[in-house]
Amino acid sequence: MTRAPARRPRSPRGRARAVVAGLRETYPDVVVPLDHQTPFQLLAAIVLSAQCTDLRVNQVTPALFAYAPDAAAMASADPAEIERLIYSTGFFRAKARNLIAMAQAVVDRFGGQIPPRMEDLVSLPGVGRKTANVILGHGFGVPGIAVDTHVLRLSRRLGLTEHSDPVRVERDLATLWPRRDWSDASMRLIYHGRQVCSARSPRCEACIFAEWCPSRVTPPATRAPAAR
Ligand code: SF4
Repeated sequence: MTRAPARRPRSPRGRARAVVAGLRETYPDVVVPLDHQTPFQLLAAIVLSAQCTDLRVNQVTPALFAYAPDAAAMASADPAEIERLIYSTGFFRAKARNLIAMAQAVVDRFGGQIPPRMEDLVSLPGVGRKTANVILGHGFGVPGIAVDTHVLRLSRRLGLTEHSDPVRVERDLATLWPRRDWSDASMRLIYHGRQVCSARSPRCEACIFAEWCPSRVTPPATRAPAAR
């Protein structure tokens, strides 16, 4: 990983700028790790990703989307068949119910097309702000900050917010980051949380923000052997 030039920003705004620049340099390509062709398929994949790895979701979605490629097909799908196709993602009964209910609402209220507005997206069964922001940003190109567990943790560690409530964290980041950076910067924070700044064992020695991060963990000093 390329180490960014040392900067010691002192304010939340300065840290926010350094975070956006450092993340962009370190993770130039932003790709949603869930395979999809349409906003509907992205939403369905996000539903399946609860308590499940992206890898596993990507293993089941080809067959699922061959059977039910869009909202109309999912809305009238056989629940037992959906359960069978998504079984390995866990919580398959609840997820099948959620997929069908979400698809029926999309058909009934939005003509079968995923709506590109936050207020409409969060009105769908099982869709919260985090999911809606991913759909907006990566399904429609509308800037959105998806605050998942990684974004929340890193935003606090990097001194971008003092809040623990995802909506307040989203609001703080929206104030600090230029709108054009919202979608990509939040996705890059997820990459950094997964690869470097994990919840239990942050690898500060490999982190591009270690020069100034307020939460940096300093490795314990090596003790000289006791004199005999
Ligand atoms: S320096 Fe450590 S705590 Fe701070 S963001 Fe990097 S890995 Fe996380």
